[in-house]
Amino acid sequence: MNGLDNRVVVVTGGARGQGREETEQLAAAGATVIVADVLEPEGDLPADSIYRRLDVTSPSNWADLAEELRNRYGSVFGLVNNAGIVGSRGRAGRLEDISLDDWNTLLEVNTTGPLLGIQSMSRLMTDGGSIVNISSIAGAGAHLAAGYGVSKWALRGLSRIASMELGPRGIRVNSILPGYIHTPMQNQTPQHFIDAHLSLIPLGRVGSPADVAPVVTFLMSDAAAWITGVDLPVDGGALGHAGLRIISEAMTAATNGA
Ligand code: NAD
Repeated sequence: MNGLDNRVVVVTGGARGQGREETEQLAAAGATVIVADVLEPEGDLPADSIYRRLDVTSPSNWADLAEELRNRYGSVFGLVNNAGIVGSRGRAGRLEDISLDDWNTLLEVNTTGPLLGIQSMSRLMTDGGSIVNISSIAGAGAHLAAGYGVSKWALRGLSRIASMELGPRGIRVNSILPGYIHTPMQNQTPQHFIDAHLSLIPLGRVGSPADVAPVVTFLMSDAAAWITGVDLPVDGGALGHAGLRIISEAMTAATNGA
């Protein structure tokens, strides 16, 4: 697919994990990708793609990037608000125990960062555009990690509002809700957390960055020209049964052999 020729796309958190795979696939489809991250990417980026150090929570970092992109390219077509942090898990992540610092940091990176990105990059979108916000299935249910879950619910809300406000300018704004994806973010994840996810997934495996990146590329392309304001789960079916899989399994077990 080469549908993204001449499109400049900014991917936050593009140094590793899902963002890195999104960078590779967007570039393969013809885009010029700006990898904006606090971390330097390992290895070579695709030809024409460049790395810029950017902390998504910093208005001045966004202003500097916007000025550079305006001078270098004139306009920007796309923004993938992919950078995110998970915060404390276990007891420290619970509503009763989360520290104010942890709460504020999660909202700052996962929700305020995308707001700042939308504000600065949408001003550079001159001929339509596409913004993809990487939320989570944690933004569609009651996840134990309170700050993370709330930040991802808020990001979905931000997407919807942005899709309404920017629609008249031809700018589409959508959310992707990944399920469990194996990336460096999950390096310390205990097995019981992975097993709990697997018990929810009809397709029987956890996800990889390669499951999410093609959906981002699709949303950047003209094939998605009339899609805006949606939340798209990419989760092996985890949200599809709305938690009711446990009932189906109990009924199946009870009636097997009957
Ligand atoms: P990851 O930790 O491997 O990558 C996240 C990237 O974001 C890193 O390169 C990191 O340096 C960057 N980043 C963090 N804080 C930043 C900041 N302030 N400014 C700029 N860059 C920053 O994680 P991932 O799994 O690739 O996560 C990508 C997105 O997907 C995140 O928003 C995450 O919340 C979301 N997500 C992940 C999963 C999963 O299971 N891995 C599931 C659902 C949603």
